[in-house]
Formats: sequence, structure tokens, C-alpha cells
Amino acid sequence: MAEYQNILIAVDFTPEHTQVTDRAVWLAKQSRARLSLIHVVEFVHIDLANELVMPQDMELQTRLLETATTRLQEVAEGLEVAGEVQQWVELGTTKLEITRVAEEQNVDLIVLGSHSRHGIGLLLGSTANAVLHGAPCDVLAVRVKEN
Ligand code: AMP
Repeated sequence: MAEYQNILIAVDFTPEHTQVTDRAVWLAKQSRARLSLIHVVEFVHIDLANELVMPQDMELQTRLLETATTRLQEVAEGLEVAGEVQQWVELGTTKLEITRVAEEQNVDLIVLGSHSRHGIGLLLGSTANAVLHGAPCDVLAVRVKEN
């Protein structure tokens, strides 16, 4: 069986995200795979066609992207891996952006977290579920324990 070569980790910046990155780093070391990180900024109050963009929305969007870029860089620096860790900060719908980047970058494994949820969380579904259905490659859902 071929080893993974290009692993994409979906990072949500929750305190539990290290459970996901730790597992992905372990896997990457086993298979000497390249690692990259993605965080998606979901910011939905923009509708250019209907001129619903407020100047403060654009500022907020820029600030959210800058903050996410800084935080993702910190996560990358904290990973115990040799070599470059590519980072993707995208704006849009989480599941769509993760699967799009995975496809464009020829990722062969997406690693993300799976929270055990009850009630409304379960009804709404999870990112893991959505990515699994749209992914162009394997998906590893790491069962995340609340810290
Ligand atoms: P959730 O659907 O909130 O239970 O998230 C499950 C997993 O999806 C997280 O552990 C992350 O790996 C990933 N994820 C959730 N939100 C984002 C996001 N905005 N950007 C990147 N990955 C995310």
C-alpha cells in the first residue's frame, strides 16, 4: 500500500486542535509525508451583488484573516517536524475550502477533528462529516476529547 505523501491538517484553533495536529505529525513521520495546515475564516455578511458590504465588514474581514494567519504560523512553528509546513488561510465555507485546497494541492490525506456531540450539535452535523462526503482523498477524523 502506498504511503501518504501530502497531508493537510484542518486547524480550528480550539484548545483541542493539538490532538489533531499531534496525530497528523505522527502519521507524517511514519510515511515521511509533507504537511500543510489550513484554517478557514467563515465570514458570511458580504453580498457584493446586493451592495451589502459595509466598510467595517471589510475591515473586520481583513483583521480576521490577519489574526488567523498569525495564529496558523504559530501552530506551524509549534509542530515538531523538519522542513517547511505550508499554510492556507482561506475565506469561505469551511468544508468547501478544505476540499478545494485538498484537490488543488494534490493532498492524499485530510486530518481533522471529530467532536462527539449531542442534541443540536448532532443535528447540525459536523465539519468532519461534510468534508468526508466532498473530499477527493482519504479523510482521518481524530476523535477529539474536550480539554
Ligand atoms: P466541528 O465541525 O466544529 O466539530 O470541527 C471538526 C473539525 O473540523 C475540527 O477539529 C477541525 O479539524 C476542523 N475545522 C472546523 N472548523 C474549521 C475551520 N474554520 N478551519 C479549519 N478547520 C476547521
